[in-house]
Amino acid sequence: ETEIPEDHPRYASLVTRHRIEAGVEQGITSKQGLIAQGRGEAFDYLLGERTIPSADDAARAAAATLLLADRPVISVNGNVAALAPSETVDLAGAVDADLEVNLFNHTDERARRIADHLRDHGASEVKGLAGDGEIPGLDHARGVVDADGIEAADVVVVPLEDGDRAAALDAMGKTEIVVDLNPGSRSPRTADVPIIDNLLRAVPNVTAHARDLADATPAELAGIASSFDSENALDAAEETIRGGSFESRDDAE
Ligand code: ATP
Ligand code: MG
Repeated sequence: ETEIPEDHPRYASLVTRHRIEAGVEQGITSKQGLIAQGRGEAFDYLLGERTIPSADDAARAAAATLLLADRPVISVNGNVAALAPSETVDLAGAVDADLEVNLFNHTDERARRIADHLRDHGASEVKGLAGDGEIPGLDHARGVVDADGIEAADVVVVPLEDGDRAAALDAMGKTEIVVDLNPGSRSPRTADVPIIDNLLRAVPNVTAHARDLADATPAELAGIASSFDSENALDAAEETIRGGSFESRDDAE
């Protein structure tokens, strides 16, 4: 998809940037999304651009939580659609979740393009175009959702979610799974299951755990979900960031 040589030491990061850039060109990703990507990359660098063990535990807890859910919904914004469309569609299939386009800066045009993009990557049904529901406590533009989607969901996956909206979803009583590289950001701090990892690694990892847990009993799934401690996960990520040295990061590659 790009002319970036695969043996380039920063290959993954360069491909990611290219995808976000292409997303903006296709009218899928907002310009704000470019800024969010830059913030994320800085944290990923500090984490060593790898899935740390606590993030893998979080991904497993997320998979168990999704498999136990009655009405799980995966919220898709412009960055998610640009970075990991197939991976997100795969996750929805693995845990039988709905996909809902949900944008911080909503326009009908962008929502339609994202829904089309997800369908191009194998999604059968994409919600988020009806806009007949709401998240209470937010102004209309930020709070609009589908009544039979996020409004009715018991578990929501909100990758790269804004802090205010994560708090408003929490106030609605949703169980929230947040993917975010910054353990200090309000969204993962609000989440029941914060996955401090790059979306590009986290989404397929949750899918892999869900496939691994396909034959687990509800009691086993509940055990995995309830033994997960979100505070510990946030602390572990913060310690990794504060305690790492650039030298050991080079060695890890
Ligand atoms: P708040 O504290 O209100 O949540 P914020 O600083 O998080 O504010 P934004 O800049 O909108 O606000 O958030 C973008 C978030 O998305 C950042 O926390 C960033 O780490 C995260 N992010 C960006 N790209 C990725 C990615 N590819 N994978 C995971 N997280 C990402
Ligand atoms: Mg945030």
